Amino acid sequence: MTDLPNIVAAPGPKAAAGYRSLPAAVTAFLGASARHISGLRVADAVVAARKEAAAGHVATLAYWPYPDETPASIAAHYLQAIEAIADAGLVSSVSIKADRLDYDWTVLLPVLQRSMERKVRVHFDAQGRVDPTLDLVERACALGADVSATLQSRLLRSLTDAERLIRLRIPIRVVKGQDKDPANPRLDRRRSYANLIERLAGRAAHIGVATHDRRAAEPALDTLRRAQTPCSLEQLRSLPRLDFLAEARGIPVRAYVAYGRFGLPYSINEVFRRPAIVWWILRDTVERFRRPGAIHS
Ligand SMILES: Cc1cc2nc3c(=O)[nH]c(=O)nc-3n(C[C@H](O)[C@H](O)[C@H](O)COP(=O)(O)OP(=O)(O)OC[C@H]3O[C@@H](n4cnc5c(N)ncnc54)[C@H](O)[C@@H]3O)c2cc1C
Repeated sequence: MTDLPNIVAAPGPKAAAGYRSLPAAVTAFLGASARHISGLRVADAVVAARKEAAAGHVATLAYWPYPDETPASIAAHYLQAIEAIADAGLVSSVSIKADRLDYDWTVLLPVLQRSMERKVRVHFDAQGRVDPTLDLVERACALGADVSATLQSRLLRSLTDAERLIRLRIPIRVVKGQDKDPANPRLDRRRSYANLIERLAGRAAHIGVATHDRRAAEPALDTLRRAQTPCSLEQLRSLPRLDFLAEARGIPVRAYVAYGRFGLPYSINEVFRRPAIVWWILRDTVERFRRPGAIHS
């Protein structure tokens, strides 16, 4: 595995100086005690991806950057993940966050070129602005890179964006997305998920059903199977998982292996919007003592 270039300065100046907001500190505490990310380094993520492979699953390695980390440093982490996956012989992809690269093609290009050389797919997470992200996806396709992208069902516009991705014939991950559609705040989260899946069924090259909500996942998998659309169930490695739904249907599972900065699953900032998070924390804590390793092994 190649060494990271000197530009990588993971924690950023504020974190390096010991600065941490209260929500960040609480999230880090919960994340650390729950082992909700695979670790701080790509080597930790590779260990997790190997465990997934042993269980017959593929993985997506996702470096979660620090708030004040530079695009160059983040891109260096993506390059390192590509090398690590190829060196380990894993069938894994690398998830990237285009907004954290400032949507800068010159920063992204070396990542894509290396991914092509090492035959590792690059997946575009949905984060930040949609249009510049999809522009980059199209440009990456034109380059000949193996890429995939995410659509958020919370956004009504995703029904239109779906057409763009269908035309590219690339794999699409469907998530609910965090927060509401500012233009359509009343959109029902499960209904809109089902609508987007229906729009894609029978037309998309491949769909990753990425939700931990059984009442969204189960009908989505069945719709895609009926339409004979190749699909997989995508799960955040850290959350209670629905693998059994995929296994019962003979559908493959892809695990999202996050590493780097602590973030999800318990976004303390979201507790007031979504009080259920408090219940999830309690449930997971009890589960952790009752069955160590059940939530994340
Ligand atoms: C593989 C994968 C990739 C993703 N990629 C993106 C992306 O690129 N962009 C993006 O905006 N979002 C992404 N998401 C997040 C997604 O948008 C949702 O915010 C997230 O999955 C929660 O919604 P849900 O559909 O799982 O259903 P929910 O109804 O939110 O959750 C269903 C169940 O999952 C469990 N659960 C959910 N969240 C938590 C939690 N925080 N702590 C403990 N238990 C929990 C609970 O049992 C809950 O009842 C991704 C999710 C997955 C699974």
